[in-house]
Amino acid sequence: MSETNYHGSCFCGEVQFTVSGKPEAMGYCHCESCRRWSAGPVNAFTLWKPSAVNITRGKDKLSSYAKSPNSQRSWCAQCGGHVLTEHPEWELTDVYAATIRDFPYVAGVHVNYQETQLPMHDGLPKLRDFPPEFGGSGETMKE
Ligand SMILES: [Zn+2]
Ligand SMILES: [Zn+2]
Repeated sequence: MSETNYHGSCFCGEVQFTVSGKPEAMGYCHCESCRRWSAGPVNAFTLWKPSAVNITRGKDKLSSYAKSPNSQRSWCAQCGGHVLTEHPEWELTDVYAATIRDFPYVAGVHVNYQETQLPMHDGLPKLRDFPPEFGGSGETMKE
């Protein structure tokens, strides 16, 4: 096992986890669901194969909720801090970039930009919804 492990935790530290290797994708999601659930204007995501994500402490503290079947959102029941969202249909797990302390996050794409309330002028591709391989149109938009 030569893969690099990165370490993250919830807001209070009761839930701790590692992610290993490289994420499948990184970027910002501007969808209304992310906004309403996080109470923040955008969600900085890192998508991993589920096998790359290990909860190393406090697994019993993780609560989850699925408003739609493809987004199982998990948080720490003790502090309320968001930790991750499982996307079973994509076989990927979104670990919130802000929770992985030592991870060198570099966004590559913006998704669901048609729903944005915080336009960002960073020169990265702005997808109207999702890439085709995630069931989206793959169309890009102006910043
Ligand atoms: Zn916590
Ligand atoms: Zn979203």
